[in-house]
Amino acid sequence: MDKVIILRYSEIHLKGKNRAFFENILKRNITEKLRGTECKTEFGYGRYVVGGYAESSERAICKKLSEIFGLHSLSTALRTSAGIDDIAEAATKISEKKGRFRVTVNRADKTLPYTSVMLAAEIGGRLLDAYPELEVDLHTPDFVIYVDVRSSETAYIYSSSIPCAGGMPVGTAGKGLCLLSGGIDSPVAAYMMAKRGLELTEIHFWSYPYTSLEAKEKVIELAHILRKYTGKTRLIVIPFTEIQEAIHKYAEPNYMITLVRRAMMRIAEKTAEKYGLGCIINGEDLGQVASQTLESITVTNSVIRNIPVFRPLIGFDKEEIIAAAKKIGTYETSIKPFEDCCTVFLPESPATKPTIRRSEASEKKIENYDELIRKAVENAEIIPIDGE
Ligand code: ATP
Ligand code: MG
Repeated sequence: MDKVIILRYSEIHLKGKNRAFFENILKRNITEKLRGTECKTEFGYGRYVVGGYAESSERAICKKLSEIFGLHSLSTALRTSAGIDDIAEAATKISEKKGRFRVTVNRADKTLPYTSVMLAAEIGGRLLDAYPELEVDLHTPDFVIYVDVRSSETAYIYSSSIPCAGGMPVGTAGKGLCLLSGGIDSPVAAYMMAKRGLELTEIHFWSYPYTSLEAKEKVIELAHILRKYTGKTRLIVIPFTEIQEAIHKYAEPNYMITLVRRAMMRIAEKTAEKYGLGCIINGEDLGQVASQTLESITVTNSVIRNIPVFRPLIGFDKEEIIAAAKKIGTYETSIKPFEDCCTVFLPESPATKPTIRRSEASEKKIENYDELIRKAVENAEIIPIDGE
């Protein structure tokens, strides 16, 4: 008998021709996540199991597994032979000692010398013998003992499941570039798109010395927290000072933010092209601030030529985003008080209804605008995010 962790993935995605593709990426992500952890993964048909770990590391392993997109739930279980005595011994070990219970048997191997109903009754009877304060209750039990008999050699006995992150395995939906500021919203946006299976690269616009070294460190820290979900990734830091200064020099003051955001989008699309990334993601949320009105989003979006921009938070309330940030563990870092480049040269009253025509007119005045954009893409610093 040994202790194992049983993993379950969402069946819904396994139907059809994509099944092997989906499974192979999920297996790769599980293997990657557990690299350096003493344990053994077994990827059987429709059943993934982790075993061979020290009892003391079980919780930590479960935690790691619960962060992998594509897994639906997990259970810690005892693994025995399919012999009734072995199963009964395991059931006795994991059972509560009093209360109402039920035994539920799933029998994948139909050649075994018992039916599911016979086995459930037998195990139930032995539990009642072992613990006289137990009581069978098929309809409203306090707990359930699950017996999953896979073959004559293998049965799993467990009594509860822990929900995992759900979603699709990272890497099954292509690659994207996420604009990561140091704020609350964009890390949540990154999490949500990784959950849909996108493999992410992150990009940050940094206006040193207007924004500090600490502001950059904070974004690196956020990328490391997100790594739990995104897997290994990289953060592209764009030197943004020169562009911001140029915009400040030539732009109408109330168009400052609009033009900064258009420059960010241009650089993001060029960077995505350079690295073969198929979409851009940001943390915009309709109506949250001046730069996120429908008109502002239209004007910033209009510089993008060839790829979609995903805004997974567009319909969220700030409260909901904060709750999500707390849940995924980025909130405490996001609220550290280091300024973002959007707050540099902030106008008193930013335009809430900017137009494309006026934006273009201002941009035309900026000397060597295209060259500044090109240089920013070229001079990016690439920071690998691969340590835990
Ligand atoms: P956040 O909390 O994510 O910073 P926000 O509510 O402060 O969002 P804005 O500052 O208007 O909103 O930014 C909107 C989005 O633009 C951000 O969610 C992020 O995706 C992107 N963004 C803003 N500033 C930067 C930056 N310095 N580097 C990278 N992306 C940025
Ligand atoms: Mg911000």
